[in-house]
Formats: sequence, structure tokens, C-alpha cells
Amino acid sequence: MTCSNCGNKMSSRRENYKYTACGLDYVTLANLEVRRCKECGDVEAVIPKIQELHRVIAQTIARRQSRLRGREIRFLRKHLGLSGEDAARALGVGASWLSRCENNKTDLSPGCERFLRLMVLYDQPSRCYPLKDLLAEKDDKKPAPIRLDHGTSWQAAA
Ligand SMILES: [Zn+2]
Repeated sequence: MTCSNCGNKMSSRRENYKYTACGLDYVTLANLEVRRCKECGDVEAVIPKIQELHRVIAQTIARRQSRLRGREIRFLRKHLGLSGEDAARALGVGASWLSRCENNKTDLSPGCERFLRLMVLYDQPSRCYPLKDLLAEKDDKKPAPIRLDHGTSWQAAA
């Protein structure tokens, strides 16, 4: 494999890869092929079935009980293929309000959050998000990491 940046030979190995390019800093892709160029330092992750991967990440987030933070709202919106304006319209809020939510300046209402989750999960048996959980104080704990493995398909590891 040659480097697309400088054309030199790249070395390849399998490693646990932090998939920060998805906009979330706690997603690790287990045992992924990663290629490195010794000449220019370029790093290429070989990510199979990226659409399926994004669907699994989105559904994992949508099923979590913890409140959505800005970056999760943005990830789910992008996963749905919606612009900020279209998502705001679907959720019944103003576009500038949604933008403030995505930037952690304010919170999405529990009803909007629930609807956003259901939009992600609509083709799955929908699960109930009790209002008491959604109205609970948002904690500032670090989100639990998500670790994904690919055998025949992407799956969230326990
Ligand atoms: Zn290179």
C-alpha cells in the first residue's frame, strides 16, 4: 500500500483505533487495520462498512439512558442526513436554538430528545424513555466509552 500523501510504502497493523473523526471522542474501533507512512507520518484507518458503523454508533447512542450532549445531538442529526434547519423543523424548534444545543449552550427539551432518538431507532422496536430519566439532571461525568468490533458486521462490544 502506498501513501496517498507522499507515495512511499506504508506499514500496516491492527490496533484499537480512536475514531475521533466521527465527532465523538469516546468511540474506539477494536482491532482495526491502520496504515502508517514512515516518511510523512500520514495515518490511514481502513474502516469497512462505514454506513453500517455509523448506524450502529447512532443506535447505541439513541438507546442510552443518559441525556444527549451537543456532540451527540450533532452526530445523530448528521446520521439522519438532516441539515440544522431541517432537523430544527422536524423537532419543532428554531434552527438557532438547535445550534445552541449542539454547542452545549443550552439543552434540548426531553420531548425533542426523545423524538430525535426515535427518529434514529424508528426501524427498531422503539423503547420507552421515561420522562423521569430524561428530566434528571445532566451529569458531567465522562460518557462511557463505546468499543466496536467488526467480524461479519459492526457490533458494540459489551
Ligand atoms: Zn507518506
